[in-house]
Amino acid sequence: MTRADTLARARELDRPQLAYLVRFPTAHGTGETDLTWAQIDHDTAWIAGRLREHGLAAGRRAVLTASGFEGFWCHAMIGALRTLRVTYGIAEAMGWDHRRTAVFHRELAPQAMIGLSAETVEGLSGAADVGEMFRSTSVVLARPTAVPLLHAVGVSACVLAPLGPALAIECPERAGAHVDAAAWRIGERDGQLTVAAAEGRGSPLAETPLGVVGRVVTGRCGCGSDDPRVLFAEANQLSPARS
Ligand SMILES: [Zn+2]
Repeated sequence: MTRADTLARARELDRPQLAYLVRFPTAHGTGETDLTWAQIDHDTAWIAGRLREHGLAAGRRAVLTASGFEGFWCHAMIGALRTLRVTYGIAEAMGWDHRRTAVFHRELAPQAMIGLSAETVEGLSGAADVGEMFRSTSVVLARPTAVPLLHAVGVSACVLAPLGPALAIECPERAGAHVDAAAWRIGERDGQLTVAAAEGRGSPLAETPLGVVGRVVTGRCGCGSDDPRVLFAEANQLSPARS
């Protein structure tokens, strides 16, 4: 029951700065960094910019597939969809929930699928023609391991990948997945990707090898962004011609 003195007490509560302790797999175990509410606001604005480039705007519809432990980027992704006034549904990215993805896709008829995993695509493949299902979906942002599965059935997918505590999103140029340079320093060492916090991030993270095979491309992208781009071996973006 809400009472006046409860509300008065609530008014006194401080909202802690820390939103998440982000734990992520590294080449040598587990890494950890803080994520504050202010950083989530920053990430929300950055993601909204990337989604806008893909044509997401008020009145569009999206289905987001993500796992419960991915709140550190999903929170900002959902905030971005709300900022853009995109109607969205959320399904779990693990294979067992692929039917929810199928139902949301059928009922919402989304213009965008965001975060499709290989497990979801494989689950859907058992009961549906995945090519038929997504070929008319304007924007498909898929995990690196899902991209070749989708390309094989004629679905033109762009890469979306959590990269340690960062998020990489490919723009319509399809020239590698952008990472926010104001927040992260992405690098490569012996063919593997590394991540560190940028100076302005506010939460320190020293250069950390991620155990992910990939390449980093710098220089301005055709979309006009100077954010570096990541090419993932898993997504078959590292063709001999490019490396
Ligand atoms: Zn670009």
